[in-house]
Amino acid sequence: DTALDPGFGERWTRAMITAFVAEADRLGELDRLAGDGDFGRNLTSAFGRVSQEVAAADPTTYAAWLTCVSRGFLGTGGTSGPLFGMFFRELARCADGDEPTVAELGQGLAAGLATVQRYGKAEVGHKTMVDALAPAVDALTSSGGSLRDAAEAADEGARSTAEIIARRGRASYVGEASRGVLDPGAVAMAMVLALAADA
Ligand code: ADP
Ligand code: MG
Ligand code: MG
Repeated sequence: DTALDPGFGERWTRAMITAFVAEADRLGELDRLAGDGDFGRNLTSAFGRVSQEVAAADPTTYAAWLTCVSRGFLGTGGTSGPLFGMFFRELARCADGDEPTVAELGQGLAAGLATVQRYGKAEVGHKTMVDALAPAVDALTSSGGSLRDAAEAADEGARSTAEIIARRGRASYVGEASRGVLDPGAVAMAMVLALAADA
């Protein structure tokens, strides 16, 4: 079980800042179609805070980079802010040295999933970020699973949310109207995993 390349935490964080600032409007549109429409604004605000945290903390370790991401989300509203904040806090904790190994990252993702489910009470099939994260954890913690396998499982999970009606979050208030619309939190979680694989 080898450590990820030096600089993984920094590359992952910087790629998330760039990608989510660029994609916030598209993801916000999904929340407008089946939710309350604030997801794009919540993401923009979270990553604005992440950039501020980075400027203030000048992180040099994996844990310090991921702590900036966690803190950016924890300072943000919506349901997704605290959930992503706690998720990234578990990821910040998963490595004792500098960059995590693939196994440590798998443990961090599993701990993140457990925290999201403890607070949000969503199961797979409820049309939330859990639909992308749970299959990614399964892929990465099964023997020989790579980060790319996890990203592909997350992408498939996110795409499956189009076919179902939301059972958690604000999209659950609109019933049938959420069918046909991807869950923005699941799409965002799949992006997080894809950017990790790229990094
Ligand atoms: P809000 O619904 O409070 O406006 P956001 O728009 O910021 O929050 O985030 C919406 C996303 O949060 C959804 O797309 C979904 O993936 C995720 N989400 C909502 N409720 C839950 C929950 N109980 N458990 C896990 N994820 C959730
Ligand atoms: Mg919303
Ligand atoms: Mg809201």
